[in-house]
Amino acid sequence: MALHLFSHARASHIFGARVFTIMAHPRSFEREHSLGTIPALQPTGAERRLLDAALTERSRGALFAGRNNTDQYERAITGRWEKELDTLRPGTLRACTRTGFELVRDGDYLCCACGAGQECHRYWAAPFLRQAGWTVTTDHPMGK
Ligand SMILES: [Zn+2]
Repeated sequence: MALHLFSHARASHIFGARVFTIMAHPRSFEREHSLGTIPALQPTGAERRLLDAALTERSRGALFAGRNNTDQYERAITGRWEKELDTLRPGTLRACTRTGFELVRDGDYLCCACGAGQECHRYWAAPFLRQAGWTVTTDHPMGK
């Protein structure tokens, strides 16, 4: 059971695969590119506020501003995944499509473009999805 965690831009060159978004704020391109969303992997209310603060932090120059908000955001969302690991398992992980909920399947692409570069939450999600039983590939340059 394989999943691919890619940026929307990279996955847009792949044909014949199902693509879903895990972005907090998908723009029209990401929405049109996706069959739906994966709610378990999208930031929720408080996590969204931390993400927005992290993006503001980075826009000021991440290397100099530090990553306090990014750290808080990572801790919040990975803490939830740790507690709710069962919702991430094959046969349980669900997508929300235009016609209702359906299971995420072998070979699906779960995409993001949250503007966070190598800090994108798709790379934080990879180890939890592996722990939940998926084989995961990512587009991370260091192969995370
Ligand atoms: Zn992301």
